[in-house]
Amino acid sequence: MSLKAHIAGQIAADGPMRIDTYMTTCLLHPTLGYYTTRTPFGQAGDFITAPEISQMFGEMIGLSLAQCWLDQGRPTPFSLVEFGPGRGTLMADMLRATRQVPGFVEAAQVTLVEASPAMQEAQRITLEGYDIQWRADAALLPDQPTFAIANEFFDALPIRQYVRDGAGWRERQVGLEEGDLMFGLGPAQPQPALKDRLEDTRDGDLIEERSSAAPVITALGERIAAHGGAALIIDYGDWRSVGDTLQAVRDHEPVDPLQDPGKADLTAHVDFEALAMAAPCAFSRLTAQGLFLERLGITARAQQLAQSMGDAALDQHVAAHRRLTHPAEMGNLFKVLALYPSDGAPPPGTEP
Ligand code: SAH
Repeated sequence: MSLKAHIAGQIAADGPMRIDTYMTTCLLHPTLGYYTTRTPFGQAGDFITAPEISQMFGEMIGLSLAQCWLDQGRPTPFSLVEFGPGRGTLMADMLRATRQVPGFVEAAQVTLVEASPAMQEAQRITLEGYDIQWRADAALLPDQPTFAIANEFFDALPIRQYVRDGAGWRERQVGLEEGDLMFGLGPAQPQPALKDRLEDTRDGDLIEERSSAAPVITALGERIAAHGGAALIIDYGDWRSVGDTLQAVRDHEPVDPLQDPGKADLTAHVDFEALAMAAPCAFSRLTAQGLFLERLGITARAQQLAQSMGDAALDQHVAAHRRLTHPAEMGNLFKVLALYPSDGAPPPGTEP
């Protein structure tokens, strides 16, 4: 059975489906979901992420977190955590780069938070030789100092969408029309949790809410507050957004999110304010990815790597540096929010 037929069957039986349910089903259905049936990253896949563009991305993140670890007095042991590690490339680059920091890799207990067994397998292969633990849920992270990275993780967590109607909200849902999946709106209802959004919206505006993000931030922030550590959260989005940002990407092109469920990646912009407000520890200023990487010295590192490259590799390398940092590429669209202990300093790259 196709995932589309499965979803249509559910809607026929139970009525319109919430968008968060639709997203979770598309991405993580045990046998037909996008992340459970493939590893979609890279040139040959559906989309490319920063760690797949250049090794420099993971190196800079590794050095930022290692500097925090040094500044906090080298707590040992500690958890080195990655959320949604994809192919494991970023963690491999971090672990390689931080070998230069005496004691860091030895003290690190690497934990990957990953829901998809197929992805876990890809990570196991990339990180062969390292002692890795997997957790399906942030609540199960060890209670100890925690240094963490989440790159393009929160955008994959399911959202709900609401359209403003007077003082109430109509939830956007997926329904069926003549056998095809269609968006529709539920009845207008008050939503106490969206009280703040009555201030910055007007009738007809659409807003998005991601309730599954707060428990992750809480679990992570509690460990940082109690035991020390830091987290870098990198994603596309802004402090707060208005409008429909649900997007599907297949073969590097945007497609209709309802067209081929399970065959395209499905994400939505991250509202960083909601993450920051859920944090039981200090949080940094929202920093553009380009600025963050420049502050950490990506240009000097790019020049150093360039010295041993031939023409073809060099062209690709220059393009990769530009893609990660330039404001017209990923430099401004992607943002970094850091979490850190209230009595500590924001991680390098995210200082005000
Ligand atoms: N960080 C990687 C991959 C980003 S794609 C990179 O930058 O290349 C999103 C990742 O999050 C995938 O590994 C996916 O399987 C995982 N994921 C998606 N939803 C998840 C969830 N609810 N819990 C844990 N992992 C999830």
